[in-house]
Amino acid sequence: MSPAHRLVDTHAHLEELPDLPAALERAGEAGVTAIVAVGSDPDSNRRVLEMAATHVGFVYAALGLHPGLLTNATPLREGIRFMEDHLPQAVAVGEVGLDYHKRVVAAAGKELQHRAFNAVLALARRSGKPAIIHSRYAWRDSFTLASGAGVDKAVFHWYTGPTSVLREIIDRGYFISATPAVEYHAEHRRAVKEAPLESLLLETDCPVAYQGHRSEPADVARVLLAVAEIKGLPPETVAGKTTDNAHRLFGLQASERG
Ligand SMILES: [Zn+2]
Repeated sequence: MSPAHRLVDTHAHLEELPDLPAALERAGEAGVTAIVAVGSDPDSNRRVLEMAATHVGFVYAALGLHPGLLTNATPLREGIRFMEDHLPQAVAVGEVGLDYHKRVVAAAGKELQHRAFNAVLALARRSGKPAIIHSRYAWRDSFTLASGAGVDKAVFHWYTGPTSVLREIIDRGYFISATPAVEYHAEHRRAVKEAPLESLLLETDCPVAYQGHRSEPADVARVLLAVAEIKGLPPETVAGKTTDNAHRLFGLQASERG
């Protein structure tokens, strides 16, 4: 049986999945035709590049520096240089951004987070590649830095921030992406409802566990159904538009898989 929809998981931590071949198989069966594998640190950046080279036309790499993994001991300069050297093999920079949760700020202060984010944003601007942005409790600052850096292509992933910042994100031509939390999380549901379909992508942020269920790329099919329900639109309309958005933002080839 062929899947009902063609979907892109625009944000997956594939290197953290316990059985990647099986997960990719299930993703294909669920209609996933492309996955953006986001890196978080130098080690995972190497891993996502290997995966993209192994699964050409299905897995695409993004190179990042996750604020949640930064510490004063992070070799920032080498990390940035690695990203710069390998950016031609990647479709985006990310996961990168700001996280003002107090546990994260205790490990990596705001000044360090801003320095790392600005360095990656400069790479995004120079390369013309989109930025995949983490902005927990830092929505306003994340938007201001990205926009101020002259980055024209960006997605604020798993957006749960205020409507005022969401409007600016949309007006700037940026995207937000919906995770499986869209099934139950009030702020995330509100943001997805308020964002036009033209500004929306789907993702899983796997292997994040949602209500006790550890996610994988196939769960993007659940995200589709929840978004369609919130928007009062047929799933095929949401699938068509969000997949087209992902292809355009990341410059993916139209895959003939599935
Ligand atoms: Zn993530």
